[in-house]
Amino acid sequence: MYDVAVIGCGPAGLTAALYAGRYGLKVIVFESLPSQLSTVPFIENYPGFEGSGYELLEKMKEQALKFAEHVFDSVLDVKKDGDVFLIKTNGEEFKAKTVIFATGGKHRELGVPGEKEFIGRGVSYCATCDGHFFRGKKVIVVGGGNTALTDAIYLKEIGCDVTVVHRRDKFRAEKALQEELFKRNIPVIWNSVVVRIEGEQKVERVVLKRVDGDEFTLDVDGVFIAVGMRPQTDLAGKLGVERDHMGYIKVDKKQRTNVEGVFAAGDCCDNPLKQVVTACGDGAIAANSAFEYLNL
Ligand code: NAP
Repeated sequence: MYDVAVIGCGPAGLTAALYAGRYGLKVIVFESLPSQLSTVPFIENYPGFEGSGYELLEKMKEQALKFAEHVFDSVLDVKKDGDVFLIKTNGEEFKAKTVIFATGGKHRELGVPGEKEFIGRGVSYCATCDGHFFRGKKVIVVGGGNTALTDAIYLKEIGCDVTVVHRRDKFRAEKALQEELFKRNIPVIWNSVVVRIEGEQKVERVVLKRVDGDEFTLDVDGVFIAVGMRPQTDLAGKLGVERDHMGYIKVDKKQRTNVEGVFAAGDCCDNPLKQVVTACGDGAIAANSAFEYLNL
């Protein structure tokens, strides 16, 4: 019987495990897919650290897993049986008195023809994973948020000929990233959307459409899609945890959900800011609330 089961092994889950473990609670952390943080090319807004997301995640893992057990397996189901939660993975069933969902998000798709067909053959959702295949080649990054601009800057740095395609005439990304983008003379195609992705064996061109105008074609070797995240909250939903209309888990100031003994932290929650530093804050608060729930 564990005191706390943390589902998810990104910054929110690892901070929750670190705090709960240091409170003297018996903690287990479940990891299935790698955290989004591992794909961020560089981080410069996490106080005291500058480097790649992967590097930061590895440091967090090393530190947190001194205080918690770690299972590398997908959680398939979480059920409540009286005061106990039954957590079923591919291989085993675990029991815990509390659960912290830190399940993060998954990239959103554009949903245009050619996108699915060319995944791994020119279409990618991860610049750090696939960027090096496109050194010296022409690529576009689709999106106007922090991820899109971070990816575009990274791709330029490693030698890609990169253009950003954004559906509006203003970026959503923070100013510091916009300045870095413009400093590198990375061109932007404003007010345009991808209509389809074309090629024979691999991506050869994209058809774009100006929001108020005609279609036009751009010859490219790669399409990096960075149009936001979808929260991964199906497991929580099945357990009866309340979510908002976008699927984010509703939490109060103490990261408590509507289900007793269930807490949530990080990008899967309906919190206003989705950053590594806020995910860590959520994780610490969730662990503290689990401690209070078990001891008060
Ligand atoms: P995001 O902030 O939601 O931005 C998504 C971008 O994609 C927006 O510019 C949006 O356009 C565009 N978009 C959405 N659907 C589209 C579609 N169908 N076609 C074309 N464009 C579309 O997502 P994100 O950049 O992945 O960031 C997610 C969260 O992680 C954010 O909270 C962000 O701050 C955080 N993050 C932080 C860092 C960092 O601090 N270093 C790095 C990465 C991510 P509109 O602008 O027109 O809506």
